Amino acid sequence: MQMTTTTNCEDYEKNLPPEQARPDYRRAEFLTSAAKFSQCPPDEGWEVAFAGRSNAGKSSAINSLTQQKKLARTSRTPGRTQLINFFTLGPEQRLVDLPGYGYAKVPKAVKDAWNRQLEAYLSERQSLRGLVLLSDVRHPLTDFDQQMLRWAEQATMPVHMLLTKSDKLKRGPAKSTLLTVRAKLSHLGELVSVQLFSALKHEGHKELIAVLDRWLTDQSVLEDLMDEDPMDEDPIEKA
Ligand code: GDP
Repeated sequence: MQMTTTTNCEDYEKNLPPEQARPDYRRAEFLTSAAKFSQCPPDEGWEVAFAGRSNAGKSSAINSLTQQKKLARTSRTPGRTQLINFFTLGPEQRLVDLPGYGYAKVPKAVKDAWNRQLEAYLSERQSLRGLVLLSDVRHPLTDFDQQMLRWAEQATMPVHMLLTKSDKLKRGPAKSTLLTVRAKLSHLGELVSVQLFSALKHEGHKELIAVLDRWLTDQSVLEDLMDEDPMDEDPIEKA
């Protein structure tokens, strides 16, 4: 992942081909699942991943964002819970549902194996433009969150944190949790942003969509493509 500067979305959107316009999240469709990093679909275009300890509210957030009741349930299909699930939004734009741990008593060896896959995904996936990290507002910054933040920092991967189920707290305590979490993550500077989110009350959607839109139309992908020398293409691979 290469670091990109924050650019005004509207400015560069004018220069994007029409199919690379802001995604319509309601058009999300299940694409495929990967049991291992090596099974991910081609690493092209734009990708944003969602991660959270199980029960953090990830399925509810994805369903609410895409306005599809069943979409994230795909990830719940037995056998798919420990898979990386990919959803297409538009040409070359994908949402990715990363596995979380929690209620399932997963043996340590299995957890370790998964940790390696997640770390590989975060550090090596070129199309990954940012990570949405979901954490219950009533107990944020779990061990899982800290681990994801460490990997993201190592990979210089931008993180947008959703403090979920914000409706469970009154406005004052919710706001003060937001400020506390921001302060705790301030050492990460612009790499991390934090907001309150409620799938139930449909709060925080605009803020989330603004971040996703920016990541999923990140111009540097096009610049990378233009930089590619056609003579570099491997004729055997193309054949
Ligand atoms: P996941 O395991 O991270 O996918 O979590 P889910 O989306 O399944 O949510 C876990 C539980 O939290 C479920 O009982 C949801 O109904 C509940 N939940 C999720 N989002 C919200 C929210 O915004 N507000 C409230 N009050 N409950 C929520």
